[in-house]
Amino acid sequence: TTKIRIGIAGYGNLGRGVESALAQNGDMELVGVFTRREPGQLKLLGNAPVLHIDDIGQYQGKIDVLILCGGSKNDLPEQGPALAALFNTVDSFDTHAKVPEYFEAVNQSAEPAGNTAIISVGWDPGLFSLNRLFGEAVLPEGATYTFWGKGLSQGHSDAVRRVPGVKAGVQYTLPVPEAVERVRNGELPQLSTREKHKRECFVVLQEGADAAAVEQAIVTMPDYFADYDTTVNFLDEETLRRDHEAMPHGGFVIRSGTTGQGNTQVVEYSLKLQSNPEFTASVLVAYARAAHRLNQMGQAGAKSVLDVPPGLLSPKSAAQLRKELL
Ligand code: NDP
Repeated sequence: TTKIRIGIAGYGNLGRGVESALAQNGDMELVGVFTRREPGQLKLLGNAPVLHIDDIGQYQGKIDVLILCGGSKNDLPEQGPALAALFNTVDSFDTHAKVPEYFEAVNQSAEPAGNTAIISVGWDPGLFSLNRLFGEAVLPEGATYTFWGKGLSQGHSDAVRRVPGVKAGVQYTLPVPEAVERVRNGELPQLSTREKHKRECFVVLQEGADAAAVEQAIVTMPDYFADYDTTVNFLDEETLRRDHEAMPHGGFVIRSGTTGQGNTQVVEYSLKLQSNPEFTASVLVAYARAAHRLNQMGQAGAKSVLDVPPGLLSPKSAAQLRKELL
């Protein structure tokens, strides 16, 4: 059997994660990494060729699925639709509010080209979305709760670093244990933003900066921190590097409800991730297999994780899966 030929578009944390995940999947091979930077600048983990993204057109017919590893904010809105016109694609677009318009834009270029494009793959959106769907379909009377953390939030860390007087810093999101406990008990609580999560910042000050002013600017920042209980810890650069370089994340989706005769049912799906990008990349790779198969079945256009039959994610045949997993 021939291997599924994979390309990687964009080589950041996610791109590197995809490269290492492919090494764990014997039915796939990496054809090349495509970048907007000078290809000679990139240092890969392995020895696949690095090419400029402007030359990617020459690879039509040589790549079965292109895994898009660009950022959701600026890269994917442009690259998603453009590259879905040329290849089957998988991406991790995670701006939840803009998923419907992104889906439309990708669909408009993938469908006429006969390509299959699975969008918003990862864990949230992604595996968490699937579990929210299972929860509400099976327990129509109830509520769904998503808690994130403990995890490093890229967006909130960026916001902290933009505060005047801040030299470097990171931000962690943490679920509030009391809230999680009530949900797990099946109490169906109404929880405000502040009651569900808290935020914790680790900040290195610029020389001469006023710690109290920096702390005040962070905890009152609208949209990012004002609606949460936020603690700010100050530390030196060396400690930041030593203790806060990793990108852990995780969280849980809980559906709690009552079935027909009034019995309380609680369903939970949980992730504890030492590396967010490495895990997200592993999900992208499994969905690349599904994108290839869907395309071979003639199912072109944009799809989300909710549209993909789960068996297509596995390298095993449907018969083998029935025997082993049912
Ligand atoms: P990065 O910032 O590491 O990479 C994004 C892009 O920036 C790369 O594709 C690369 O493009 C470019 N880039 C990377 N490093 C450099 C550099 N040193 N100098 C210049 N350009 C660089 O982002 P991540 O890989 O961490 O994350 C990508 C996206 O994944 C996030 O925006 C997020 O939306 C999404 N995500 C989704 C999750 C989910 O569950 N759905 C979970 C986690 C992340 P190029 O090679 O072309 O220059």
